[in-house]
Amino acid sequence: MSYDPDNIFAKILRGEIPSAQVYEDDDTLVFMDIMPRADGHCLVIPKTPCRNLLDASPEQLLAVMNTTQRMGHAVMAAFGAQGVTIQQFNEAAGGQEVFHLHFHVLPRHEGQRLRPPGNMEDSDVIAANADKIRAALAQV
Ligand code: AMP
Repeated sequence: MSYDPDNIFAKILRGEIPSAQVYEDDDTLVFMDIMPRADGHCLVIPKTPCRNLLDASPEQLLAVMNTTQRMGHAVMAAFGAQGVTIQQFNEAAGGQEVFHLHFHVLPRHEGQRLRPPGNMEDSDVIAANADKIRAALAQV
């Protein structure tokens, strides 16, 4: 399977479609999921192309995992969460829908289930949650 440079996250990286970005460094970008399964659900991606975990280089994995850990702390602080779920899917059979490596970061609260997938969130709510994460990032 080869990398499709027209996947939606590649377009976000090129600035061709909008996203609510919360963090960026030389190697990674983090933006809000438009169909969040929890308030604060965001996605960590490498800036360089790879489909998923199966073709990622050690350098891409290292960069993405470091940012994922950082975002875990940030979303827990931002939403007063007691835990964080990290999800990552590989190929269609593995549940992957967008074929640019990404890690889902989901703040979790005791006894609260994830919302079902596939529901678009209001852009104002996403923007407000992105603000909370940016504020928390300044503290962690
Ligand atoms: P998956 O490939 O199964 O890990 O799922 C892709 C994720 O990307 C889903 O959670 C979608 O809600 C999310 N998503 C799809 N398009 C966008 C977009 N334009 N901006 C932000 N998130 C997106």
